[in-house]
Amino acid sequence: MTLDETTSESLFDRAKQVIPAGVNSPVRAFGSVGGTPPFIASASGALLTDADGHEYVDLVGSWGPMILGHANPRVVDAVREAAGRGLSFGAPQTGEVSLVEELVRRVRPLRKVRLVNSGTEATMSALRVARAATGRDVVVKFAGCYHGHVDALLAEAGSGVATFAMPGSAGVTEGTARDTIVLPYGDRDAVTSLFAERGGEIAAIITEAAPANMGVVTPPESFNAFLAQTAHAAGALLITDEVLTGFRASAEGYYGIDGPTAGGTRAADGAGAPPVGGSDWAPDLMTFGKVIGGGLPVGAFGGRADLMDLLAPLGPVYQAGTLSGNPLATAAGLATFAGLDDAAYAQLARTSSTLQSLVADALTTAGVPHVIQTAGTLFSVFFREQPVTTYEDAKDQDTAAFGRFFHALLEGGVYLPPSAFEAWFVSTAHDEQIVDRIAQALPAAARAAAQG
Ligand code: PMP
Repeated sequence: MTLDETTSESLFDRAKQVIPAGVNSPVRAFGSVGGTPPFIASASGALLTDADGHEYVDLVGSWGPMILGHANPRVVDAVREAAGRGLSFGAPQTGEVSLVEELVRRVRPLRKVRLVNSGTEATMSALRVARAATGRDVVVKFAGCYHGHVDALLAEAGSGVATFAMPGSAGVTEGTARDTIVLPYGDRDAVTSLFAERGGEIAAIITEAAPANMGVVTPPESFNAFLAQTAHAAGALLITDEVLTGFRASAEGYYGIDGPTAGGTRAADGAGAPPVGGSDWAPDLMTFGKVIGGGLPVGAFGGRADLMDLLAPLGPVYQAGTLSGNPLATAAGLATFAGLDDAAYAQLARTSSTLQSLVADALTTAGVPHVIQTAGTLFSVFFREQPVTTYEDAKDQDTAAFGRFFHALLEGGVYLPPSAFEAWFVSTAHDEQIVDRIAQALPAAARAAAQG
């Protein structure tokens, strides 16, 4: 270690000896923005403190789960209390029933749900159920949508796959890749003609309820309803992935925004297909993660009861997990939901829109081309002038300008997602004082972005 080497640098050096790229998830390596990632020592509210004692306003929020801020006292107390009663039972426990009841109460299409340990497990399991239910193999996804590192879903995926400009992943068999068809996001004609040609082979369409892993792309008006209608007309299913948008884009995720308006009929009453088309539509299966575990590893998939009852031991679809429904994770999820009332969502919406204005003002003043896109309270900033509607658009932005902006903000004490392809995450702990700290750092960052 040289005299002025930081603790984060020496930790990164150590990590790289024993962990590929020194990280346990690719985007954390700062590969596309360069530099050494700060190693985080602790976090509280909206703030992170790294191993060198630097403090940052956090706009990553662990990529979504920390919606009440870090080390929220209610969540930490609930986890501590649960830990005192045992860490894992591998047997049914109260918290998992309560957490699933909470999900079913909050999201209209959910009739039955299984808890898993990550968003990846949730989408992988939902796909398996869809294939079993339809007896078909083909799955349709959209370019730029990320659904975790499930073999079948890595083709033209967003998130880290986009950050590192990868077409997909090595190690996925040809057979698996053949069963995945990738279409341009939002392209109704492409969906219609694919179904006209191969509808009888398609098990499911899977889509992010609102794409947020190529940056945030607002779904075209009633696009998800159209997908439901098209899939159902061909005997296929629609899976909406709300791992990122769930309980964040709105209280009911993106379905709370483009699902039937409040007071409409509750969809999918167990057996049979849910209502199709029009405004009264529902996905057959949905996936969740992030917020529902409050920072501990949890995912969930659920939807129509008849589909979920295909799972073992009721039905022929095998799916399991040693730590699924873990008592600490369900305690963290329940405590997080306890803090997610209407006032919390109103505050998240206010903070998100204030931040959008501040960023737009700073970038406009510095003359940096940008466009800010939203999906409910979710937003991201693209470094280009024209709106982004597809993955091709998202890739066509000034990532070098983003890199300069990112590093200047980091220097100014603001921790952004280290990629131009990610949403920015706020929490209820981002109060006026915190937003003011971001406002202070923005002008210099915008000027840095301008200096290409
Ligand atoms: N689906 C979506 C929409 C996601 O954003 C993510 C993670 N960013 C996943 C699935 C995978 O979740 P996990 O990282 O928990 O496996």
